[in-house]
Amino acid sequence: MIAGRLVNRVGMVVGQPRVISRLAWLPSLPSYFRRDYAAHRGEWSAPRSRIPDALKTVPGIWRDREAEDETFERDPLYDFLGGNPWAMQFMTPHMWRAMVPAAPRLERARRMTVEVSSQSRSRNPGSGPPPAADPSAITAAVKAKAAEVGLSALGIAPYDQRYEYMEYKAEQVGDRVIVCVLEQNYAATQTIPSARAEQAALGGYAEAMQLATLVGRELLDRGFRVVVHEPERHHLVIHYAVEAGLGQLGLNGQLLTPAAGSRCRLITINTNAPLVFDHPVDYGIHAICDACKACIRRCPVNAIPGKREWYRGVLKSKLDTKRCLPIVAQADGCSICMKVCPIQKYGLTPVIDEFERSGKILDRGTDELEGYDWPLDGKHYSPGAHPEIPLEIREPPGMVLEMNPKP
Ligand code: SF4
Ligand code: SF4
Repeated sequence: MIAGRLVNRVGMVVGQPRVISRLAWLPSLPSYFRRDYAAHRGEWSAPRSRIPDALKTVPGIWRDREAEDETFERDPLYDFLGGNPWAMQFMTPHMWRAMVPAAPRLERARRMTVEVSSQSRSRNPGSGPPPAADPSAITAAVKAKAAEVGLSALGIAPYDQRYEYMEYKAEQVGDRVIVCVLEQNYAATQTIPSARAEQAALGGYAEAMQLATLVGRELLDRGFRVVVHEPERHHLVIHYAVEAGLGQLGLNGQLLTPAAGSRCRLITINTNAPLVFDHPVDYGIHAICDACKACIRRCPVNAIPGKREWYRGVLKSKLDTKRCLPIVAQADGCSICMKVCPIQKYGLTPVIDEFERSGKILDRGTDELEGYDWPLDGKHYSPGAHPEIPLEIREPPGMVLEMNPKP
């Protein structure tokens, strides 16, 4: 008990953001020791093409273009984590069990993205036109590269300033955004909430950044400009993923891909290469969500609203970040809303097959899908049961969060 507290105290110190960022010199664990949480490499097979009529809504997401414009003019987006230093200062020490083992690989991968982006700036300076290229051929080359390096999927969407964080706008190149997807470890994800699952998420980001950098380098070597981004820092990544047809937005606020739901990590690349755009797709996910709602029922702090509302020109279920973030920080990343999602656990095809057969959501209300072990008290919570969460965990002393923080 005393030893456990001591280890925790040391971990909280090592987990400070300034220490974490200096761990890149540490060697990575050999892959054998990472097998319990390593990402799954290899291209996904094509998603199901036939959607039952009863599940059809809209391709991508419901959008009101005028409202998107109006919101952007009045209140452009800013980087949440960059503008909320309290969040990082609070989160990383609490998440040290996952952060410390993943930090060296994350930091090295981050440096790779910086290196390829700065090489792009020095080799192809200015904003002149890109080299002449056949759009179909260059798109095929980029997608072949993604498959060769082991990414799960790759999509291409138009750049849209309304979904960019204003602090980073000057770094933007070109009018295309490439979204790289890497599937996160399956077995580790089913242990959510746990340090192992969080290691899978952070390690997945490190791997996805490395692989995306190889895709970026392919374009750089062909004379195009690229910026490979760190995870979640420069723009609303999910917007681009939906526009690129990689999935649809779930009620849990996450990108649900047909192959793995939200059990994947996303890295984006801006480029001036004349790539052929992918398009939003209706996979039937909105209607599956409406019949499921497991994430809403199982969230321990009711951070997911029960219905969609218009928000910044998009119809979506808007997560309550002030309720969610303290739980994510203190309960091993929480992510119960990911764990209990049938599309994450089984993939979309079996879920649609079951819905067509019985009108029901696969495994809805079962302990197999919706049960979880709560790390803060060590107990198991079956469907219908929720942990008691004390006020000091829900609202940590000193919590200061601004939702769209301007620098
Ligand atoms: S991460 Fe946890 S607290 Fe946050 S919305 Fe999901 S289930 Fe709720
Ligand atoms: S748990 Fe159910 S409602 Fe929530 S995102 Fe997944 S499919 Fe949609």
